[in-house]
Amino acid sequence: MRDTTPARLLKRRSLLGSAAIGAGLLAALLGVPGGALAQPAPRPALVAVQSPDIPAANSLAHAQQLQTIATANGGNRAHGKAGFKASADYVKSKLDAAGFQTTLQSFTYNGATGYNVIADWPYGDANQIVFLGSHLDSVPAGPGINDNGSGTSAVLETALAVSRANARPTKRLRFGWWGAEELGMIGSKYYVQQLPAAERSKISSYLNFDMVGAKNTRTWGVYTDSSTLGATFTEYFRSKGLATNGINVGARSDHASFKSAGIQVSGISSGDDPCYHTRCDDINNIDSSVLGTATNAAAYALWKLAGIPAVPAVPYRPAA
Ligand SMILES: [Zn+2]
Repeated sequence: MRDTTPARLLKRRSLLGSAAIGAGLLAALLGVPGGALAQPAPRPALVAVQSPDIPAANSLAHAQQLQTIATANGGNRAHGKAGFKASADYVKSKLDAAGFQTTLQSFTYNGATGYNVIADWPYGDANQIVFLGSHLDSVPAGPGINDNGSGTSAVLETALAVSRANARPTKRLRFGWWGAEELGMIGSKYYVQQLPAAERSKISSYLNFDMVGAKNTRTWGVYTDSSTLGATFTEYFRSKGLATNGINVGARSDHASFKSAGIQVSGISSGDDPCYHTRCDDINNIDSSVLGTATNAAAYALWKLAGIPAVPAVPYRPAA
């Protein structure tokens, strides 16, 4: 997440606001038995999407690798530094091994080469793309494990879950890991600007994951940019009994690059923390269960929005 102090303070205040709203709505949805009704009303199926249950340890393992990369490269993963390129190589190698079509897109900023990693799952309607993204760079001050090794790991593990499920979605799935976000969303702006208009118009929705592993998360922030996309995240969190709160991230992360191009965007955040943009934003600064929840929320949204059927691609054979 890019730091612009006044907006950040506003966001922190709004996050404190309505922790009880989500829990209250959940109680209302689950409902009190319907008094005079002859038959009890059926309990609403809050989650009908058959997304996988992804172990939190999977995403944590990626975050640990990013910490190892930072430690081996001067303590950070910032634009233009060796730790950033090593982070991009790590993500790309995992995707290549899982059957994705990957691209390492380079750009130049502040006299240094930056990179975006883009991965396509080559099934489904190429004219309707559901896009998940997160920024891959840290600030120079620290390893950037909540900001944004957490989003990086959640999106990577969601992509790997697509491969494990051998998913055959209705829509096309694309994933992006952005460089130089901390310098003003440079990588995602570059990606969107170099896309021909006809290619931009194929992106149905973009979902952003920036800071999704903070400790002591009580309320999940859901971007208010699109009520339709936001509702997908909200229904996931409610199904797990977790409170949500609408947040306006403004132009402080990569969704803004897509929104500027007229693309529907949303995203989630667990909020920031005392180690934000400092040296202590390390592997001990995240909560693996929070990170696991973010990963499963991402998978739920992807499965639902891209229309991934519950039945796996492997033909079903009934027992003899
Ligand atoms: Zn940041």
